[in-house]
Amino acid sequence: MSGGDLASRLVSVQERIDRAADAAGRRSADITLIGVTKTHPPALAQAAVDAGLVDLGENRVQELVAKRDRVTGARWHLIGQLQRNKVRDIVGAQILVHSLDRRRLADALSRRAAEAGTVQRVLVQVNVGDDPAKGGCEVDGTLELVAYARDLPNLTIEGLMTIPPLPPTGADPVESTRPHFATLRRLRDACRERYPEVMHLSMGMSGDLEAAVAEGATMVRVGTSLFGTRADGPWRPQEDG
Ligand SMILES: *Cc1c(COP(=O)(O)O)cnc(C)c1O
Repeated sequence: MSGGDLASRLVSVQERIDRAADAAGRRSADITLIGVTKTHPPALAQAAVDAGLVDLGENRVQELVAKRDRVTGARWHLIGQLQRNKVRDIVGAQILVHSLDRRRLADALSRRAAEAGTVQRVLVQVNVGDDPAKGGCEVDGTLELVAYARDLPNLTIEGLMTIPPLPPTGADPVESTRPHFATLRRLRDACRERYPEVMHLSMGMSGDLEAAVAEGATMVRVGTSLFGTRADGPWRPQEDG
């Protein structure tokens, strides 16, 4: 993809966000666009940053770490599953983790953050559609996990994240995902009543960001609409050349 293509795709995704925010009576400045660069080379991620898209998301720890060293000026988001044995690659590097989904991971993150002398910022991932193919804690367990994690000394819970189930074939993505986004918003409101720092809603992707913005998304995670079709597998450093 050329730099010009990326710049015009960025403009059109930002226009979609602006229109959706407008329709919902919201300010688009309150919605952060995260460019999801998974499988794409660092040069493309750097081009995004240079075009003004500084928030970048990766779903694999190894890929994020490899790109972090090769891209300057980005703010990184880990949007995929985090294994406890990878916690040390993440903590202390100013990465927002969107995928806290269990107590043992919260324990590991807080412990490592204490060792590193920092506070790790996280979002709790919720499996709103109760979809076996998706990560996240159960809807009914969300408040409890948030309460548990925020009591740990070196964690701060800044919001909730979700990936809704894929719309059934032929269904309108906006219609079919919106109820799931509404669920996450209600959960966030219930958490925020007790814990004001639980503010963010990370929801909405290329196909359904309008529905997410309508339901209050403060972060949307967009890959395909910005960067085109993904490669078959993760980007690895030896392919750099
Ligand atoms: C890949 C990915 C996205 C981006 O999906 P697109 O449909 O390409 O925009 C968003 N969120 C998560 C968690 C992802 O893994």
